[in-house]
Amino acid sequence: MEAEEWEAEVDCVVCGSTIHPGTDAGFPIDASAFLCNPCAVARGGVHDPAGERWLSAPVWDGPEWSTGA
Ligand SMILES: [Zn+2]
Repeated sequence: MEAEEWEAEVDCVVCGSTIHPGTDAGFPIDASAFLCNPCAVARGGVHDPAGERWLSAPVWDGPEWSTGA
């Protein structure tokens, strides 16, 4: 099975929980920012567990976004 997913563990930019690639359905906002599944779903994201893809992207407008600078 082939999937375009990141390789390393990452932290959710909202709650800080660790997202394990391959086992957790996190949502990649961009190359270095990710939402964990609960945070993505809470923002309107709809994940298809069977298809392992996002049917609807979460709405991201949180101020947590720019904390990395
Ligand atoms: Zn989260």
